[in-house]
Amino acid sequence: MEKVKYLILGAGPAGLTVANRLKQKGEDSFLLLEKEKEAGGLCRSAEVDGAPLDIGGGHFLDVCRPEVNRFLFAFMPEEEWDMYERDSRISFDGDYIGHPFEANIWQMKPEKQREYLESIAEAGCNIGAQKPEGFVDWIYWKLGRRIAEDYMLPYNEKMFGSNLDELGTYWLEKLPNVSYEETKRSCVEKRAYGKQPGHARFYYPKKYGYGELWRRMQEAVKERTVTEAAVKRLDVRGHRVICADGSVYEGEKIITTVPWAEWEEIAGMPEELWQGVKRLKHSSTQIEYIPEKMDTKAHWIYYPEKEISYHRILVRHNFCPKGKGYWTETNKERVEQGSCPAESGIFRYMNEYAYPLNTVDKPQIMKKILGWARDREVYGLGRWGEHEHYNSDLVAERAMKLADELKR
Ligand SMILES: Cc1cc2nc3c(=O)[nH]c(=O)nc-3n(C[C@H](O)[C@H](O)[C@H](O)COP(=O)(O)OP(=O)(O)OC[C@H]3O[C@@H](n4cnc5c(N)ncnc54)[C@H](O)[C@@H]3O)c2cc1C
Repeated sequence: MEKVKYLILGAGPAGLTVANRLKQKGEDSFLLLEKEKEAGGLCRSAEVDGAPLDIGGGHFLDVCRPEVNRFLFAFMPEEEWDMYERDSRISFDGDYIGHPFEANIWQMKPEKQREYLESIAEAGCNIGAQKPEGFVDWIYWKLGRRIAEDYMLPYNEKMFGSNLDELGTYWLEKLPNVSYEETKRSCVEKRAYGKQPGHARFYYPKKYGYGELWRRMQEAVKERTVTEAAVKRLDVRGHRVICADGSVYEGEKIITTVPWAEWEEIAGMPEELWQGVKRLKHSSTQIEYIPEKMDTKAHWIYYPEKEISYHRILVRHNFCPKGKGYWTETNKERVEQGSCPAESGIFRYMNEYAYPLNTVDKPQIMKKILGWARDREVYGLGRWGEHEHYNSDLVAERAMKLADELKR
């Protein structure tokens, strides 16, 4: 049995950042355990049709965390990245409009603009109605019936799956926030107003996929990484983990970035918390490559239409200079319903853990699990360790902070 000071479970961005930060601080008693053959998690890339493709979906590095990016550029210098101004669109009425929808209805025909404006004017938030608790009601309340039914609800159902009724509203500050006044102003002045979504400017590697950054970070700690080591059982009191092949590892402190649902057993965890683990939900996304060139300048496009299987496409040739074609993202439920024609693509990859779902009871469940675990020097970290919709730059920031806290 191998014993280390810091045992890190999962070698996605969270695990790789903790490991490299510890190493930079002079620590060498750490070990990364990773289920797959290679590190990188959802941020991995593969070579498909002569160019890189991000197998976890479309992945871009936001410019909004300069300190994190400085840390990451030590592995892949800034000169190796191109910077882009986001161009994302929504398929609508046989054409495309800019994203977010409510800031870009000025791009529709005048009579459509009037219909949508009237519907927003009647939305709950504009007539003084009380803010609802559930996601679906909140969307009607915030955006009005037309945007809810023509775009937001069908799109979110395609992306997250059929359980929208179980989602809460506490995470909706992540969505763009455009008021009715700003929508009206944009219709008059013919340009978008209001708080725009993340990735307004972003980096993407010049010659590689996004996965290259994380591949290099793995390379930097490769002596301390065990791949094809799927952890299955956690003994919190003994500070041990047991892998699928029976191997056992011990850490004075355990940093877990793997989905809580992956554990077959957590010895010592109170039954109430274990039941909480079982109530955590996630959705799965399939990536599929289509070799056709698209006639658009958009980096990515959202598709709310129910008759189209996928919910988003990434137009590879618009951010990956050598790339042809595009790739799609489709929720596993829709793949299983057979709405994804088998003959259309030449590369497919299913990400079982794509989106942690923000169900109504999740904040309470996670608060209890993370607090209980931390008191025992087991630290949940990252998209799955914390079960939060974190992007990779935020995950890296949290991982840097945790490494700094643990190794002062
Ligand atoms: C469709 C999509 C688009 C996205 N777009 C962006 C974007 O544009 N920009 C951005 O910054 N972020 C984006 N993200 C988010 C980004 O993928 C995550 O923030 C990031 O991957 C989180 O890193 P992580 O290490 O916490 O989790 P992961 O990347 O999921 O890594 C977890 C690791 O744990 C391993 N693991 C799982 N189970 C076990 C086990 N039992 N034993 C051992 N190892 C295990 C996994 O194999 C994996 O390597 C996107 C995510 C999705 C799904």
